[in-house]
Amino acid sequence: MNETYPFLLQPLPYAYDALEPFIDEETVRLHHDGHLKAYVDKLNKILAPYPALHHWPLERLIFECHTLPGKIQTDVRNNAGGVYNHNLYFASMQAPDNQQVPQPLYQQICTSFGGWKEFQDAFSQAAANQFGSGYSWLAVGYRKSLKIINTPNQDTPLPKNLRPLLPLDVWEHAYYLKYKNKRMAYIQNWFSLVHWDAVNERFLSPR
Ligand code: MN
Repeated sequence: MNETYPFLLQPLPYAYDALEPFIDEETVRLHHDGHLKAYVDKLNKILAPYPALHHWPLERLIFECHTLPGKIQTDVRNNAGGVYNHNLYFASMQAPDNQQVPQPLYQQICTSFGGWKEFQDAFSQAAANQFGSGYSWLAVGYRKSLKIINTPNQDTPLPKNLRPLLPLDVWEHAYYLKYKNKRMAYIQNWFSLVHWDAVNERFLSPR
């Protein structure tokens, strides 16, 4: 996450069809090679005339967006967020494998939300209720407290001083080819793809 301008399209960490049958190959291909690539290209184009920003990592562009020249603030917020959120989204999935959720994350989630099923229900409801395009997140705040939050568009949890652990992209481009208007079916199936080891590593990371 420390890369700077010019940002590169990070390769998908698995094959395009690895998430079948829950997320189809065509959706993954369009989402990664089409949508994510567009955010990367647009971000580079916006930053090209601003050499002073060329050593800024993605997280700094997001955190300090309000300090940027007014005419690029919205574009940087949307496109830096688009790159950041999608990199995390794709890195948070893997081929379905019925893995156990590792400790200490499992216990912390059960303690925070009253049980594993309660967590899944709360996260699913949040994702189903996000009006229009956006994300649901499992995020960690002060003293490792866990929270479920939604962000609209390509906003991130970072400005809320929350560290993102797990994003779920509920933009229609993430599911519409296969699921049409059945967003809840996509949400339920997505749980089978979550890369819990990666989420646990983020939870354990000191920042
Ligand atoms: Mn997306």
